[in-house]
Amino acid sequence: MTATIIDGKAFAGRIRAQVAQHVARIKSDHGVTPGLAVVLVGEDPASQVYVRSKGKQTGEAGMASFEHRLDAGTAQEDLLALVAQLNADPAVHGILVQLPLPDHIETDAVLAAIDPAKDVDGFHVSNVGLLATGQKAMVPCTPLGCLMMLRDHLGDLSGREAVVIGRSNIVGKPMAQLLLGDSCTVTVAHSRTRDLPEVVRRAEIVVAAVGRPEMVKGDWIAPGATVIDVGINRVAGEGDKTRLVGDVEFTAAAQVAGAITPVPGGVGPMTIACLLANTVTACCRIHGLPEPE
Ligand code: NDP
Repeated sequence: MTATIIDGKAFAGRIRAQVAQHVARIKSDHGVTPGLAVVLVGEDPASQVYVRSKGKQTGEAGMASFEHRLDAGTAQEDLLALVAQLNADPAVHGILVQLPLPDHIETDAVLAAIDPAKDVDGFHVSNVGLLATGQKAMVPCTPLGCLMMLRDHLGDLSGREAVVIGRSNIVGKPMAQLLLGDSCTVTVAHSRTRDLPEVVRRAEIVVAAVGRPEMVKGDWIAPGATVIDVGINRVAGEGDKTRLVGDVEFTAAAQVAGAITPVPGGVGPMTIACLLANTVTACCRIHGLPEPE
């Protein structure tokens, strides 16, 4: 069997088109332009790439984009002052502080300072709590993108056996909450899990968010399972080139899985599309407008 390749790039393109339509409607009917502020501290190369493409895609969707680049030595209190300023700015509906932050800054303190209504990353404890209790929350973009792909491919997820590998606050834990919200039977695996291959073998849905290149082997995958590969790992390629691989051994897994996301071109593009969608949702909630579906 050869798996269906879930095309995250095409799916993300459809979401961005819907976001752009919604933005145009909010502008024309209500005179409001959704705005996203992205804050980058330091010069981490991967973060710079993400911030650039977030800014570009925000603009392409017709939204206002505000970029704040601070140098690596910025004091925590100066970053907190900027967050306070963005919280108070009526043109800003979404605030994203790009992680990781430099070591001298306490990430939790910065995330706690963001107005939960503008917390488009969904990392504020209020949003984490709302999600965990099944209430209306801002949902973290990466797991939201994974859920959308799963629903699109499988339809109703109710009763399905799902294994999430990884328990980070950014991906694993919110992913597990979302799957639980869709009535899956969820197992969360991590570095202390015993016999991970056996745990993965019982899953109809596998979400791998580990950060270890091709750790999940093809023979761990149950025939017909749907595999969502969140991992983005840079490894040595031909000559002195590098290439990106996921957390799943793609070629072998694609022989057994029912469907699988590629890396690149799977979860990655969905993450930014969901960020744009979250910004529109935040804008609608702040202004009491109808939310996108
Ligand atoms: P973290 O490093 O925060 O978490 C990794 C998780 O994997 C931990 O819970 C860890 O367990 C678990 N783990 C590590 N080694 C093993 C192992 N041998 N067996 C089982 N579990 C293991 O990573 P993130 O969640 O932030 O990111 C995961 C991956 O997803 C990375 O490759 C990252 O680049 C990618 N990513 C991609 C995004 C996208 O847009 N596509 C967005 C965000 C992340 P423990 O808790 O026990 O240490």
